[in-house]
Amino acid sequence: MHPLAFREAGHALVDWIAHYLHEGDRYPALARVAPGDIRSRLPATAPEEGESMKEIFSDFERILVPGLTHWNHPGFMAYFPSTGSGPGALAEFLTAALNQQAMLWRTSPSATELEEVVLGWVRELLKLPSTFEGVITDGGSMSNLLALLAAREDAAPDVRAHGLAGRQEIPPFTIYCTEHTHSSVDKAAIVLGLGQEAVRRIPVDDGFRMRAPALQEAISADRRAGYRPLAVVAVVGTTSVSSIDPVTEIADICEREGIWLHVDAAYAGAAAMIPEYEWIFDGVARTDSVLVNPHKWLFTPLDLSALYCRRMNVLRKALALTPDYLANRQSGAVTNLMDMGIQLARRFRALKLWMVLRYFGAGGIRTRVSEHIRLAQQFAQWVSQDPDFELLAPAPLSLVCFRAAPHSLKDDEGGLDALNETLLDHVNASGEIFLSHTRLNGCYALRLVVGHIRTSEVHIARAWQLLRETVNRLVPPDLSPNGISSSSRG
Ligand code: PLP
Repeated sequence: MHPLAFREAGHALVDWIAHYLHEGDRYPALARVAPGDIRSRLPATAPEEGESMKEIFSDFERILVPGLTHWNHPGFMAYFPSTGSGPGALAEFLTAALNQQAMLWRTSPSATELEEVVLGWVRELLKLPSTFEGVITDGGSMSNLLALLAAREDAAPDVRAHGLAGRQEIPPFTIYCTEHTHSSVDKAAIVLGLGQEAVRRIPVDDGFRMRAPALQEAISADRRAGYRPLAVVAVVGTTSVSSIDPVTEIADICEREGIWLHVDAAYAGAAAMIPEYEWIFDGVARTDSVLVNPHKWLFTPLDLSALYCRRMNVLRKALALTPDYLANRQSGAVTNLMDMGIQLARRFRALKLWMVLRYFGAGGIRTRVSEHIRLAQQFAQWVSQDPDFELLAPAPLSLVCFRAAPHSLKDDEGGLDALNETLLDHVNASGEIFLSHTRLNGCYALRLVVGHIRTSEVHIARAWQLLRETVNRLVPPDLSPNGISSSSRG
């Protein structure tokens, strides 16, 4: 591309991005398209002749933008939000242009060393000991997989060479977590060849936290039955409800039993940087590994997860493999990031985290995360004070689980599920907000999470207004449910 053409297209693109990032709410938060709509508007084959950036960009706006669910919309409060912040977006622009491939130190000394430095910053903000060495992965699922791989390596180092199949001498491994642990732990069990049945669900208390005595009982029962407890995955900020497993008590058990303890703090880790919320990381310094996802609540665009291991050499032992064509004089003397991951080609992810942390500063990040927690607490208060709504779980951080529960549907659990499902569809169809759901103790629960950098009190208030107006429309006060009861929905 000629430098002049690049500059012209680049200016247009940067202009578009600048507007997009600041007026993300001019598009609906949730894409309003049907499956196949976008595909049907795109040619099935690549163009034979090259096209201009102008034409390409015009199709991007015309065809693709309507099919985007806008994670950058300030009304995006579904799942766990992620922010494509300004400094993060600029860093991604640079990353693509530099196209660093950081498999070896020599293939990108800066990407390798910046990753070490920036993960050191995050470790310090999380108050983790310097014995925890970090590595960047593409997401929490990969970080969970690598942590459990390290656990397997620690327990049975010869599996790397001989595998697990047909090994009568190796007892079946088990992993412990709760039903609220992210499904990527199941995926890790599948990928590691342990099988999904190896994942034991430990019962939770009223606050959806792992019951440590029940964990101890499950481990002892498994040992008696000939299983080999491999790892416990405790979660600081579970996906469904943001509950915080009692890491200190779990660490006592794991130390006594000699079991790898991994903490998944993909979402909530950001809050541990705030003095009033440091307690959520109590006991985490005693674990074997912990992950935090800056692409969730640290204003870093997708994708970037940070995995810390107290003994990173265990992960290296599991994965390091240097073919002749990659060996070089520095091998052994420097960090080669390929030794701590599955993929070989690695992009320069550390750059965006570095730019985000420098641009906002640790103080700026703490202020924003604290404000998100304040807003969620405010929302939780509105819910708890409204007779037509109820909280379904404690809300320790910025996630609120709740449902509409009008008097006319009291004790009609089927009707309440149906009402809340319909309510969610209606408010999401507004395009002004996007919420998601989960199931808690069998009930259909709405989830509202404050985590996008531009979400403010205005958006929380609007979400609340929309929810209340919609419930009043669906179930007019003092009237019987408007076609919503469980019997009418079958
Ligand atoms: N762990 C937790 C607690 C999560 O909530 C999630 C995703 O929401 C993950 C792991 C998976 O992270 P990722 O989507 O980055 O793979």
